[in-house]
Amino acid sequence: MLVTGKEILQHAHKNNYAVGAFNISNLEIAKAVLDAASECKAPVILQTSESAIKYAGFQELSAIVKVLADKTPVPVALHLDHGTTYETIIGCIRNGWTSVMIDGSHHPLEENIAVTSEIIKVARAVGVSVEAELGRLSGVEDNISVSEKDAFYTDPQEAVTFVKETDVDSLAISIGTAHGKYKGIPKLDLDRLQEIKKLVNIPIVLHGASGVPEDQIREATKLGVNKINIDTDIRVAFSDALKEVFQNKPEEYDPRKLLTASMANMKKVVMSKIEMFGSCNKA
Ligand SMILES: [Zn+2]
Repeated sequence: MLVTGKEILQHAHKNNYAVGAFNISNLEIAKAVLDAASECKAPVILQTSESAIKYAGFQELSAIVKVLADKTPVPVALHLDHGTTYETIIGCIRNGWTSVMIDGSHHPLEENIAVTSEIIKVARAVGVSVEAELGRLSGVEDNISVSEKDAFYTDPQEAVTFVKETDVDSLAISIGTAHGKYKGIPKLDLDRLQEIKKLVNIPIVLHGASGVPEDQIREATKLGVNKINIDTDIRVAFSDALKEVFQNKPEEYDPRKLLTASMANMKKVVMSKIEMFGSCNKA
């Protein structure tokens, strides 16, 4: 069933676990994620980037998720990841997304508060949840690219001001993760996470979690992260399986046979993430 992002994240916040938010751009990825969530009895978030919407279309993605979510016995939210323009965010709201992110993290605090508040006013009027971001992650995610020198961690006091002024539903913070593939092993600033969570007391979101060591993910979940974004690991699972099929059966030309292995591999990865995040049997 399709529900709001807020409904899913408030439950996670109160019961101290994290929900996986998996990026999708087609039918196969959406099916693999929802199969995994159903099997684990876990609430789940399907999210689309702006470029995924450009690739597949508002109505197309919305229809795929609506039909699949209706058949899925666990709560599912459809979320916009890194909304940067008013047009995309309103487009999502019009087309049935139940949650949107407004990424004003490149702005100074006051301006971030202003752009976030504007979106909250519209979204809340129609019951759509809002995630905002404070602090900047380095790395590349679709059309968003931030160099290491432009990245900075979230300031706990600024987080307090931001949440108080905007009354946002959930907050993405920067504590040492990055978008895309990591060069070395990331080390999260868990003290900072703990302090922020204590001060703001709302669902906290971790972006760029693909490739972060499992013990740090488990610790971050214990300390109050309630939504963990996974994109790169799914892409890798999809393409690795596809490459293997081509290697073993170069004569294969049926798209269904080519993609079946990718779906199984993505499902396996999603199930392991759901277990790691502690959301099994929470639906
Ligand atoms: Zn992100």
